[in-house]
Amino acid sequence: MDVPSTSSDRGRGSREGLAVIGRAARLRCPACGQGPLFREWFRMHDACAGCGASFRRESGFYLGSIYINYGVTVVVTGALYALLVLVGGTTHETALTVCRGDDPFHDRRACPAAAA
Ligand SMILES: [Zn+2]
Repeated sequence: MDVPSTSSDRGRGSREGLAVIGRAARLRCPACGQGPLFREWFRMHDACAGCGASFRRESGFYLGSIYINYGVTVVVTGALYALLVLVGGTTHETALTVCRGDDPFHDRRACPAAAA
């Protein structure tokens, strides 16, 4: 593992980081900056035309982010529910309505669209 140890190493690392950001802004290969990433608006090339670096994701690439998103959602929603019930003094039904993202002040019985 390469760890920058001198100020020139750190400067080279920050320049490389800026180069990668510039390549991303130009939608070019992050490795070489030559090949385009996309062949159409929402379709990527399988590999870089300049250096051959693969742009394909391995199976399970997004699995870690799904676990993190689920965990953060459970913690935030649970904290919001506890805050509303224990500190705010709302009813359980109102707290659940807020945690689901519904408008707690909207009366569904009075709404003609909800009755249909
Ligand atoms: Zn490339």
